[in-house]
Amino acid sequence: MSKVAIVTGGTRGIGEAISVALRNMGCSVAANYAGNDAKAQAFTDATGIRAFKWDVGDHQACLDGCAQVADSLGPVDIVVNNAGITRDGVLAKMSFDDWNEVMRINLGGCFNMAKATFGGMRERGWGRIVNIGSVNGQAGQYGQVNYAAAKSGIHGFTKALAQEGAKSGVTVNAIAPGYIDTDMVAAVPAAVLDKIVAKIPVGRLGHAEEIARGVAFLCSDEAGFVTGSTLSINGGQHMY
Ligand code: NDP
Repeated sequence: MSKVAIVTGGTRGIGEAISVALRNMGCSVAANYAGNDAKAQAFTDATGIRAFKWDVGDHQACLDGCAQVADSLGPVDIVVNNAGITRDGVLAKMSFDDWNEVMRINLGGCFNMAKATFGGMRERGWGRIVNIGSVNGQAGQYGQVNYAAAKSGIHGFTKALAQEGAKSGVTVNAIAPGYIDTDMVAAVPAAVLDKIVAKIPVGRLGHAEEIARGVAFLCSDEAGFVTGSTLSINGGQHMY
């Protein structure tokens, strides 16, 4: 029987590529999104993958949304915590709301989704959770104390939860993308982006599909011995 997968933020950008990659490997995919109904509808029309709207930063909404997916597609075997936002600014100019919203969605979303699905995965003896971190969570980034902290937190969350799932066939891993050509990066001023690309050894931005391939591997049966790890896909920008 095909596995059931939820991809948060799965209707555009990196998440869209992940939804399609998991569908292509035979999964029944539910693509979650926050509010861009037009893009979600266009995504469903183009791919046939159903979209489900809820805010991953809202604990009860995650419990309800995951229950709705399970009713529609079956018990959830795979969760890809991909939804994320930026609210950049240097500390002196960053409001508490900017801090809190990034923590609530980027890091809190991982907790909320795990609470909704991890227990069932353990009971059934198989599961995959892949959390999308960031090179900026590994290395830090000027003007991103909120985002870097949330993404760095994702890497710690991954290693801790991996230890809770290991004996029950549930793996928990992270991917740390470098700069990928999505709407999120399109928001970076061109002059800043040129300087960033100049520091990427392969000399270009990454493509969403290059992240999706890593996710598909980590979600496969063949990756059952990989847990608690972070796969960096960043064109050589940060090596450690
Ligand atoms: P985009 O901004 O292109 O897409 C973000 C997606 O997340 C959208 O589908 C959006 O939904 C969804 N989303 C945002 N907030 C919420 C929420 N509260 N609840 C549910 N869904 C939400 O992002 P990218 O594709 O660029 O990034 C995807 C992930 O990869 C993020 O976690 C990001 O931090 C990470 N990343 C990206 C990098 C890059 O260079 N692009 C580099 C490193 C990490 P909607 O369409 O409704 O707004």
